[in-house]
Amino acid sequence: MEKVITRNFGKANSHRLEVYLQNKGYEAARRAITQMTPVQVIDEIKKSNLRGLGGAGFPTGNKWGFIPKANPKPKYLVINGDEGEPGTFKDRYILEQDPHALLEGIIVTCYAIGSHKAYVYIRGEYVKSLQTLQGVVDEAYKQGFLGKGIMGTTFDIDVVVHPGAGAYICGEETALLESLEGKKGFPRLKPPFPAVAGLFGCPTVINNVETVTCVPPIILNGAEWFAKLGSGKNGGNRIFCVSGHVNKPGIYELPNGTTLREIIYEHAGGIPNGRKLKAVIPGGISAPVLTADEIDVKMDFDSLKAIGSMAGSGGIIVMDETTDMVWAAMIVARFFAQESCGQCTPCREGSGWVYRNIKKLYHGTARPHDLANLPGIVNNIGGNTICAFGDAVMMSVGSYVSKFRSEFEHKIKERVCQI
Ligand code: SF4
Repeated sequence: MEKVITRNFGKANSHRLEVYLQNKGYEAARRAITQMTPVQVIDEIKKSNLRGLGGAGFPTGNKWGFIPKANPKPKYLVINGDEGEPGTFKDRYILEQDPHALLEGIIVTCYAIGSHKAYVYIRGEYVKSLQTLQGVVDEAYKQGFLGKGIMGTTFDIDVVVHPGAGAYICGEETALLESLEGKKGFPRLKPPFPAVAGLFGCPTVINNVETVTCVPPIILNGAEWFAKLGSGKNGGNRIFCVSGHVNKPGIYELPNGTTLREIIYEHAGGIPNGRKLKAVIPGGISAPVLTADEIDVKMDFDSLKAIGSMAGSGGIIVMDETTDMVWAAMIVARFFAQESCGQCTPCREGSGWVYRNIKKLYHGTARPHDLANLPGIVNNIGGNTICAFGDAVMMSVGSYVSKFRSEFEHKIKERVCQI
């Protein structure tokens, strides 16, 4: 299996510039700036079928192409390293193990979109990631890979590393921009989209850490090579983060389109103690849960969408037959109730209402109407809010209630207190 994103992981001092340079480091940036036009770089990324690996899965080259060239305002690149989606821990490894790959991706991306300034927004809890990246940024300035006229070319670029303060919603791109501007992390109404009016009102591309890390290998090896690694319109590999009831939790770089069954049973070592699988969250807790019968799905954006879930952030959480699905739904609902930013009434009030209902079910104090009301409550949150958080509450919590309804009904019949 060809490693692309994690190719330098595990090498001694993999975060150091001299180690990165030993393996064609910064050759892609040099090639892009000296031998390609920005339009050619964007076309190459479009052909590679690279998708946004933070969760949305939007085609990366298309996103870059939305930046209006004629707009005289400065253009910005913002890297989303907030990584707050429960079950997701891949960007952290990239930032700690191969930060120069991200920096090189930033240089190529900035060149393609006509930007000379990039901000990397990293969640505040990732202290080591922040320190490591700041260290390599400082080193890159000293060695001429950042700053004025990088690598002997006429291209200038500055990179700022910025810590977040721990709010999940700041992983939502417009909330992240607000936070970066020094304001409360409230998502913005769209349109206008960030490509037109983003950071400080200027055209902005926001890409996830892993997405941008894929860019240098595409420039070096070609779009066709990358596209062929994946499946359909989901080019390349991605890092899957596997946690929960598996023998070997961890990160696995695998081609887009690898089946969920293969990831759980071959790469992550299967379920401990010979237990049966009950459920899997395939892409961070915002993704609708899958049953054990659905794990032959290909893990890519289009295949998971086709069965009513999503590939999201690549965070796979495995639950064996001992898992109480009402408990699992309660944990998910509690998370959303706590992390709602509070701007929209349906999300602010509804997410708390959903949590309180499921909590009652779990603790054996619910009445039949508490369960009967749940689908209506979640469905009135989704589609009625400023950002996709409301849809996530509807889709994820709703999936537990619909797919494991008998467990919810059992709680009412038995009225067993689980405290
Ligand atoms: Fe905030 Fe929820 Fe509205 Fe998003 S949907 S803006 S998180 S209240």
